[in-house]
Order: sequence, then structure tokens, then C-alpha cells
Amino acid sequence: MPAGTAPVDPAAHVADLADFITASPSSYHAAEEVARRLQAAGFERLDEAEAWPTGPGRRVVVRDGAVIAWVQPEGADAVTPFRILGAHTDSPGFKLKPNPSSESAGLLQAAVEIYGGPLMNSWLDRELELAGRIATADGRVHLVRTGPLLRIPQLAIHLDREANKHLTLDRQRHVQPIWGAGEEGDLLALLGGFAGVLGTDIVGHDLVVADTAAPARFGLDDVFFAAGRMDNLTSVHAGLVGLLATPADAPHVSVLAAFDHEELGSESRSGAAGPFLVDVLARIADGLGAGDEDRRRAFAGSWLLSSDAGHAVHPNYPEKHDPVNRPVLGGGPLLKLNANQRYASDAVGSALWAGVCERAGVPTQPFVSNNQVPCGSTIGPISATRLGIRTVDIGAPLLSMHSAREVAHVDDLAALGGAVTAFFAG
Ligand SMILES: [Zn+2]
Repeated sequence: MPAGTAPVDPAAHVADLADFITASPSSYHAAEEVARRLQAAGFERLDEAEAWPTGPGRRVVVRDGAVIAWVQPEGADAVTPFRILGAHTDSPGFKLKPNPSSESAGLLQAAVEIYGGPLMNSWLDRELELAGRIATADGRVHLVRTGPLLRIPQLAIHLDREANKHLTLDRQRHVQPIWGAGEEGDLLALLGGFAGVLGTDIVGHDLVVADTAAPARFGLDDVFFAAGRMDNLTSVHAGLVGLLATPADAPHVSVLAAFDHEELGSESRSGAAGPFLVDVLARIADGLGAGDEDRRRAFAGSWLLSSDAGHAVHPNYPEKHDPVNRPVLGGGPLLKLNANQRYASDAVGSALWAGVCERAGVPTQPFVSNNQVPCGSTIGPISATRLGIRTVDIGAPLLSMHSAREVAHVDDLAALGGAVTAFFAG
């Protein structure tokens, strides 16, 4: 068995995933946690504004809520291809508005915008925190998280007898969380306290709302794993596991690229439609002395595995899924296909993925939408369009995608880690 393809133990894998999710309440925290773990394992953290080393090495660079890390093996040259695991760090939910403090009915409230497409009902009646980054007038940026602070209380059934038939949540009026009692409260001052700065010094913030409930296993033999943000921290974590196991003599440069803003369409400086990955690959290629033709030859031999959460068949809504292609929880990671290229996988990519799963000793199952249910998309088609690198869309099957608390099968999560490890192993 080649190095890096030992089976991943499900219990250990999900325990580590639980720690990773807990440490990553926002995209900024996720990017930092990836860098922190890699640095602890000997990766060198680079600054985009500095000159980069060119020889073999293991490196990581953070851009806002995105992170790219790579292993440049001994013997890499100007035409050495790349193997890239692409994923995203952000999750749908709520983001704090600029002047966030208000008061109503004797309660302090936080003003929030909706970020992406959350299942809003799933965010009701949970103890929530604020997490992300604040910028102060001195030009510094501080990561902050508050712990349990907020809640979006649902209206009692007595005041809305139709709530079980059709719950209607107004995107402005019904989702503003409470965070204190009384009439006087300055949320920015409170947040400043978590960072050791004055609220009046805060000149900008990117803060999202996150569920504070710890991840948990449950069900017969504890086969299920529930947590927030599994779309798509399951993939970021699998990439981390795979990259850490990458052999130093791999025949390619192994890259983990975890982007921000996928839930909004990826169009940002740190999103997959932006230049971050192109910039990093160009700098690696420059360091290897690659000219234009060399780089195109390297890209022509490269692969990008776009990993993102997908749907298992829901037992209460089986008609929502394709009648023949029916991925189940516990059946292995998904190969995601769509005739209209909402996913980038094709026949050749399917063959690559089949080989990866075989080497990892894990099952896989195809996902395709019911024609009456519009298909989601991923960073896969965006990255393939931007780079011209062959791309295949895969990911862990979930139920309750975009809920504040999603659920997966522990074997699928471990199998994804094993498959990504095999992908990087060559
Ligand atoms: Zn996703």
C-alpha cells in the first residue's frame, strides 16, 4: 500500500472534524485554523506582500477568509502538474449590519443581514454567537468570537396557529436576534471587549452568526454526526487531512484551496471566481522557472477535485430526488454530475475519481438532480472556467443542507478524508 493511503478511522476522523468545526465559527476562523494546524505540522506561513521561497517545501498563505496551502515536492520542475483540492470556508447564515445595536420591547437586538441561503427556520431558538473579524483605527485586524450571546426567538404557537402549516419568516422583521435586556446596550463596545479594544476604535467588522451547540454523534452505533457548517467544513477538513499525509516525493504539487464567499457566488478577492488561486499557482510556477508554455503544460496535466457537500436521499421526501440515482447516507462520498455543467464532472473526471476511491478502498455513489428540482452549484465549474484545469465535483452526502445543524454519516466523512488522501498521494 503506497504511503498516505491507509484507511481513515471514522471515530478519530469525526472527533478531529468536530474540533475543526468548533474552532471555525466563521470563514476567517476557518482559514486561520487551517493555517494554525499546518504551521504546527511544520508548514511555513507566507505573506503575499513578501518574496516567496522557491525550493521544495510545505507552505500556507491566508487571504481574508480564504486559505491556500501546498506541498512542493523534491524534484518538482517547471512542468510538474498540480493536484488541487478546492473547497469553501463560508456557510449560509446571518451577518452583522454596520450599526448593529437596537432596542425593542425592552430587549436589545442585533441588526443582521442574511448571508447566502440559510434554512432560516433552523436558526430559531438556538443559542448563537457572533464570530469573525473587526478592524480598528490603528489598522489592525482582530479575530473575535463571543460564545453564546444571541437568540432568534420564534413566535409562540398561540400567536400564530398556522405556524405548523406554513411558517412565514420575513427576512427583515422576523430574524433579528436578541442579546440583552434593557434599553441601553452597545454591541460594538461588547465586541471590542472580546478583542481588548474600545468599541469606539472599531472602524469595520465582518461578523457572522454561528450556532454554539457542540457537534455530536447519535443514532444506532453512533453512525450519525451532526454539526453546523458541515457545508463545507467537511471538505476543508478532508483537504487538511489529505495534505498533511502528502508524501514528500509526490509526482505533483499538492494544493489545498479553501475559498470564501461560495454561498454568495464566489465573486470576491477571496472567492473562487477571484484571482487568489491563479496568483498562488503563478507564483509557484515562477519559482520553478516556468515560462508560459511550461505553465500551460503543467496545467494540462493537472487535476482539481472540487469538494462540496451534497444531498443524500431524504427518507421523508424521496420524490425530491432522481428515481434511479439515489445516494444514501453511509454509501460513500458523492460524485456530482449535471448535464448543464452546474458541476464540472465529466466522463474523464469520473474515471479519475473512480481510481482515487479504489486506491483509498472507499465506496462512491453518483449524485444527479431530479429534473424538476433545480441543481445547486459549486466552485468546480468556476475554477475549471478560470484555470482550464480538469475538474471533478465530489463531496460528502448530507441531510438538512443549509440548516444551522446538518447531519452526515461518519463513514462517509472518513471515506472523504481517505479519498482526498489518495488523490494527493498520486
Ligand atoms: Zn457548499
